[in-house]
Amino acid sequence: MKGQAGERLAIDGGPRAISTPLPHSMPGGFRIGSDEERAVIEVLRGKNLNRYGDADRPSRSQQLEIAFAQAFGVKHCVAVSSGTAALQCAMAAVGVGPGDEVIVPAYTWIATPGAALFAGALPVVAEIDASLTLDPADVERKITPRTKAIAAVHMRGGPSDMDALRGIAERRGVKLIEDTAQALGATYRGARLGTLGDVGAYSLQFSKIITSGEGGLICTNDEALWKRALMYHDVGGGMHYGLSDAEMLPGLSMRLSELHSAVALAQLGKLEPILADLRRNRAVLKAGIADAVKRAGLSLRAETDPEGDAGVCLVVFMHDPAAAKWAVEALRAEGAHAFQIYSGRRDYHVYCEWTPLVNKRSWHPDNAPWRDGPGAQLFDRDLCPQSIDLLSRAVHIDISPDLTSAQVEELTDAVNKVLGAGH
Ligand SMILES: *Cc1c(COP(=O)(O)O)cnc(C)c1O
Repeated sequence: MKGQAGERLAIDGGPRAISTPLPHSMPGGFRIGSDEERAVIEVLRGKNLNRYGDADRPSRSQQLEIAFAQAFGVKHCVAVSSGTAALQCAMAAVGVGPGDEVIVPAYTWIATPGAALFAGALPVVAEIDASLTLDPADVERKITPRTKAIAAVHMRGGPSDMDALRGIAERRGVKLIEDTAQALGATYRGARLGTLGDVGAYSLQFSKIITSGEGGLICTNDEALWKRALMYHDVGGGMHYGLSDAEMLPGLSMRLSELHSAVALAQLGKLEPILADLRRNRAVLKAGIADAVKRAGLSLRAETDPEGDAGVCLVVFMHDPAAAKWAVEALRAEGAHAFQIYSGRRDYHVYCEWTPLVNKRSWHPDNAPWRDGPGAQLFDRDLCPQSIDLLSRAVHIDISPDLTSAQVEELTDAVNKVLGAGH
């Protein structure tokens, strides 16, 4: 067997464990093919690029919403122009506004706190735990009488602790939003992520699990929230669904184009095989490195539901940030795609690097929720030491659904070699 401890590392001039370049992990993007081509051409030939254009049959956007709701076992879905737009609609749907606070994890794309901010609310940062998602104990501590919502973010395909978070939300009377941008299709105790809270937001941006290049989705089982999201995403949308004048609210324009919806529909059809391949590859890698992880006294990311994880990566916690930095360099030399989750460099995924927020920049001086409120030390680096410690020791290993079994084996060898080197 290859990949034993003691074998000369590629970083030290030894042979590479991985013989062919591994595919990058753009799961849906790399599977774009004739289905997506045909779908786009059909829309173009139909000469109707308007989601409300044809009274006789549902538009591509409406078909996407129906198909998604059905596949995810949820009552309502709205297709929108991005994951960020989906989060903004989610905030508006649950009624987040000036004077409110929204609890967000220390580790998430800046769009999550950004959506709270654009609603006029203060994003309040809570620690993550070893699952790289919200630490329920810190969420509990961060709740104040002003808390309107908790935004659970299922980072890197891994479910947040939804039992705990739902319990807190219910007990404390706050709304639960699920940012499922990085975990579309993943589950928690059998239910799809994004369908467990009050409202779920997804992204179809190119680096996500399935993609239309840009795009997003919102889902909810609550009809009132669905109507609010619908009106927020499209100022004219309410009319098309027969909402009364008394219900009508002003909205924006965040519709997903018919061309993007056509691509998203084709991609939705590929979700199950993509998830199956991701999960299989992850399971093989995880089993293959288990001994080396144990022998080195290290640990993997904690799992709130091992079966539910989407499988897009495996994360190993090293003993300290220097060891993580070294392991990434060594893994890359072997031919693996790996990175240190927080290296101290500018990165909009880590709260103390949300530069425009750290610097408290706002579009208008009167629209800065931290100005008069309790937000003075909002994003200080020492606010969430547990998160910084975890993220800077975390080595992220990419998993593509398109890895061959030989490539998974070589990747396993690479990780075993590096972990066996005893750093
Ligand atoms: C990508 C992402 C978003 C935003 O999605 P866009 O489609 O890029 O606007 C929001 N939250 C998280 C956690 C993301 O990874």
